[in-house]
Amino acid sequence: MQTQPKASHFIGGTHVEDKSGEAFSTVYPATGETIGELHSATPEIVNRAVAAAKSAQTGWASLPPSERAVVLRRAAGLIRDRADEIARLDTMDTGRALTETQNDPVSAAASLDFFAGIIPAYNGQSIGLGGSGGPFVYTRREPLGVTCGIGAWNYPFEMTGWKSATALAAGNAMVFKPSEYTPLSALILAEIYKEAGLPDGLFNVIQGLGPVGSAIIEHPDVAKVSFTGSVPTGKKVLGLAGSLMKYGTMELGGKSPLVIFDDAPLENAVNGALMANFYSTGQICTNGTRVFVQKSMHDDFVSRVVERTRKIRIGDPFDPETQMGPLTSRMQLDKVERYIAIGKEEGATLACGGGRPEMQGMEGGFWVEPTVFTDVTDDMRIAREEIFGPVMSILPFEEEDEAIARANDTPFGLAAGVFTTDLNRAHRVAGQFQAGMCWINNFNLVPLEAPFGGYKDSGVGRECSMAALDQFTQIKSVYVETGTVESVF
Ligand code: NAD
Repeated sequence: MQTQPKASHFIGGTHVEDKSGEAFSTVYPATGETIGELHSATPEIVNRAVAAAKSAQTGWASLPPSERAVVLRRAAGLIRDRADEIARLDTMDTGRALTETQNDPVSAAASLDFFAGIIPAYNGQSIGLGGSGGPFVYTRREPLGVTCGIGAWNYPFEMTGWKSATALAAGNAMVFKPSEYTPLSALILAEIYKEAGLPDGLFNVIQGLGPVGSAIIEHPDVAKVSFTGSVPTGKKVLGLAGSLMKYGTMELGGKSPLVIFDDAPLENAVNGALMANFYSTGQICTNGTRVFVQKSMHDDFVSRVVERTRKIRIGDPFDPETQMGPLTSRMQLDKVERYIAIGKEEGATLACGGGRPEMQGMEGGFWVEPTVFTDVTDDMRIAREEIFGPVMSILPFEEEDEAIARANDTPFGLAAGVFTTDLNRAHRVAGQFQAGMCWINNFNLVPLEAPFGGYKDSGVGRECSMAALDQFTQIKSVYVETGTVESVF
């Protein structure tokens, strides 16, 4: 399939190339072959993209929200028409199995429809200040102007769709910078928006590494950054935005707990733990990588998890039978292998996996086996640091209070899950988790209707739901006098 993009950037409604920017390439992670050569945005490209966004934004913001919604819905339809092409491109760029990436355009289209649906109903308040006919305040939700989106590499198309849908629905323009590891599919979304009738300049894609991201944020005409990535980068990005008094939404990493009580049905808990660790080859921010299992169930749980993990079908990401593809980059493979070695050195027991699978004809790819460690203790680095790969740590516990305290003993706070059939306990535990996204008897489901984001180091702000629109607007309060003006003078 054609993977080389027409040009590196998409600005003001057209593909733009500028070969004076530093060259970089993107690879197919299953084989390590180069599939696209691109150029980083120069300062001139950054300025062009922001200028295009600025000149388009005011007209867009002045449209009735229902008219903006029509464009978003049309784009959602076009995403569905090109879903197969988008999924294949994301599989080439991320290495994730096609059976997974097929969900991403569906989710992105749903997000455009969702924000198209709610934006006409998203309004300010009227605040009475006393008496009928008395003074009152009304509030207006106004767009921020030009916003910047910066993406991570695990869900490139979906992430671009989610961020842009929210920004555009609320009347903003966006300059989006995908991860340098997965730069391709955002350009397809830009084409789709144009075809759907989005005025040129409202959604621009420019490529590059970290410094391009900071250059967009630093631009004086950019009001906000919506960032997805790691905690260390997020701290830098929010620091930069804060130093310039700009808004920032940070969707960052995690080391989430999954707490399994011994009254949970074993198979259900095992399914939950497998999905919470191995989907997307473990490259999911919310993954429940610290699996706390009540002692009386621990041994049965471990043997069933290991049995099922050994059966996971690793293979050609385009094969419909494949359940797990490679990691997305050589850098990520090195990192995951480093942590597997650390786990062994720290004294955890390697229950299964830990090596590189033999992949005939795909030896240059970034393959790693799904890995389970037992006898993990809370102080081990594999239980404290985000690995972002298919490495599950199983930790036994005895009492509910102990499990909650240990689950919360982390600087992260993105997600948490509990499996139990005890109704009271389920809500008691969920209520005490220090995490933004919690699940009872499931894991890793992120419905668009629910606010999504982290506590503690895992982030600031929320994506999805009405809460996301709050992050892409600013509130104006208008005081309305209905009587005479009093003066002390
Ligand atoms: P990363 O932090 O290395 O990079 C993320 C993005 O930031 C990339 O586009 C990169 O080019 C850009 N960047 C790097 N330095 C920058 C700088 N100084 N200024 C501006 N932009 C800069 O993260 P990654 O390795 O691409 O992604 C993996 C991380 O993302 C994991 O920690 C994962 O948990 C997290 N993640 C979080 C969510 C969420 O919604 N909470 C979702 C997916 C991934």
